[in-house]
Amino acid sequence: MVIGAGQAGLAASHHLSQRGIEHVVLDANPQPGGAWQHRWDSLTMQDVHGVADLPGEPAPPRSGKRANDAVPAYFGAYEARHDVPVLRPVRVDRVESEGELLVVHAGERQWRTRTLVNATGTWTRPFVPFYPDIDTFAGEQFHTATYPGSEYLRGRHVLIVGGGASAVQFIGELAPITPVTWVTRREPVWRHDDFTPEAGLAAVTMVEERVVQGLPPASVVTVTGLALREQEQGAAELGAYDARRPMFERIEPRGVRWADGSFEAVDVILWATGFRAAVDHLAPLRLTSPHGGIALERVDGNVQGATTAVRDHRVQLVGYGPSASTIGASRAARQAALAVERALRETEADAAELTPVGG
Ligand SMILES: Cc1cc2nc3c(=O)[nH]c(=O)nc-3n(C[C@H](O)[C@H](O)[C@H](O)COP(=O)(O)OP(=O)(O)OC[C@H]3O[C@@H](n4cnc5c(N)ncnc54)[C@H](O)[C@@H]3O)c2cc1C
Repeated sequence: MVIGAGQAGLAASHHLSQRGIEHVVLDANPQPGGAWQHRWDSLTMQDVHGVADLPGEPAPPRSGKRANDAVPAYFGAYEARHDVPVLRPVRVDRVESEGELLVVHAGERQWRTRTLVNATGTWTRPFVPFYPDIDTFAGEQFHTATYPGSEYLRGRHVLIVGGGASAVQFIGELAPITPVTWVTRREPVWRHDDFTPEAGLAAVTMVEERVVQGLPPASVVTVTGLALREQEQGAAELGAYDARRPMFERIEPRGVRWADGSFEAVDVILWATGFRAAVDHLAPLRLTSPHGGIALERVDGNVQGATTAVRDHRVQLVGYGPSASTIGASRAARQAALAVERALRETEADAAELTPVGG
């Protein structure tokens, strides 16, 4: 059983099929495309950091095409060509343990399975930090997941919160057309050199170290640093990135109060504050360590190979922590399929992995 049909779930399905492991992929979205179908319209294939290939099929090239068209079309064609056994829309509410089996519940429906690959990404769990009086703000608030596009915000003073790549992109779009104030918790770390494979490996290794210890996965930006691209040069020339401020003290109905007591009026708050792993449905399995994250087992000599939950070897997580990128998910998917094969062998399973129950 695979939950989620984004990059991670489709790659996992491929590697399970390669090993002759019967499975089904449950996906909450009505259409193929994983989180990509929900990205904002102005995000083009030129803007994305890069979409890795699904096994055996080249990903869409860099172009001016909208990412929320190009990637879903790519995933849809992949599902059709490879007969990926996807069922949608099926939102899994919870997964429970019943003896040797896992019971996957989605509304009235349930499935029993010996193993599970969880590939549910992060998009459905946008994170907004708590700030006093956040609900008293009279203007509009958005998150990266609900970004309405630059035209909607034109002419309004937008406060952008967050020190990651999304905030940098939003400033690039918005600063040339509307007043923008940027706040981050920490001083942004800018990278002026090329992003080398070594830097990428260091970032992933840092995140892997955290999940092996059972800590919640961290943002890789703390290691990779931020970089400005051609699209952001206009905003940079206006000084939008230099005008970054430390966090405000509190939110008031018409704006924010700074630590020095001064007030700034803003019309919109855009929380570019990231996402958390969408794993609430796994709560009954009690996979979470006392450190607050799901601890995964390290696979020696294979960064991004950590997929097996320490507390339940029947469960693999792909697209979680070190594998939360398209390339990481593709790599980890293979590792997860190997672990599933091992777990099935251990429980003397034959090819009949799935037993559907009810409609
Ligand atoms: C704005 C933004 C831009 C990004 N750009 C890049 C980039 O350029 N390159 C890159 O490598 N990475 C990028 N990432 C990271 C990116 O999220 C991952 O690389 C990748 O898309 C995640 O794939 P996934 O399969 O893990 O998750 P998703 O694509 O989110 O797929 C998860 C699927 O699981 C389904 N699902 C979730 N919960 C349930 C449930 N309970 N029951 C059933 N189904 C469920 C969802 O409906 C979804 O279809 C970006 C992230 C963000 C937020």
